[in-house]
Amino acid sequence: MSKKDMEKALLKKVGEAVARFKMIRDGDRVAVALSGGKDSLTLMDALILLQRRAPIHFTVCAFTVEQGKFLRPFEPMAQYLKSRNVDWSYHTDNPSLKLLEDQPTHGCDLCSRFRRRAVYQIAKGLGANVIAFGHTADDFCESFLRNALFNGRVSSLPPTTYSRERDFRLIRPLVYVNEALTSRYAESMGAPVIPCGCSQRTGTVRKGLRDILGDMEHQYPHIKETLLSAMGKIETSRLLDPRYLDLDGETIGETTEADEGSPFAIVE
Ligand code: SF4
Repeated sequence: MSKKDMEKALLKKVGEAVARFKMIRDGDRVAVALSGGKDSLTLMDALILLQRRAPIHFTVCAFTVEQGKFLRPFEPMAQYLKSRNVDWSYHTDNPSLKLLEDQPTHGCDLCSRFRRRAVYQIAKGLGANVIAFGHTADDFCESFLRNALFNGRVSSLPPTTYSRERDFRLIRPLVYVNEALTSRYAESMGAPVIPCGCSQRTGTVRKGLRDILGDMEHQYPHIKETLLSAMGKIETSRLLDPRYLDLDGETIGETTEADEGSPFAIVE
């Protein structure tokens, strides 16, 4: 795929997500949380490209939070962003560094709580009302499977949501973009991706699910798209949550005993 085609595919998918989930509105200032990886870099570029073409006016800036987990100095990335005139800033989060020193084996819960606090503080300082995260289609699929298989819930990530105080809209515009595309895109840009120590972890549930999906993708190339599509077409009357079931038969013409989902249907 040529660089132009990649850019086109990226913009199409990001544009679709932005419109469908009302991610960006006129007058917004969007701050991209740039982790140094291929996904958030691709996101930043996509939003800058979109900004130039969108019929509404919004601004884009980017920031990085240093939590002590980068495996290499961030300088090459800083140079890269500077050469592209990106409105970007770098912030060391001292409480996160202290956490790493005091509890080197702390889990994701604590780490992301510290990051969230830092992200809100930084975004406020940048005058942003929207924060964009680089979660991809792969992340949505993994999160969906993890919740279903390990937490007993039908749930994934919200494409658009709000901070608790409702002072920030939190968006994930790469919901329809898979990591095969972000990898190729970041590579084509010659971006000096900076890995995070956690990305090297093995034996995690996330890695296991990623491998399963990857294996299945060889046989069923569109499996992630299908899973994303399933997340957008929920048939609540065919799940097991009594809040959404017509247990007293009050909904006219909705389901019948003859339906294939009926307990009286023959299941082979
Ligand atoms: S994977 Fe690493 S950086 Fe991400 S939340 Fe967990 S501990 Fe933090």
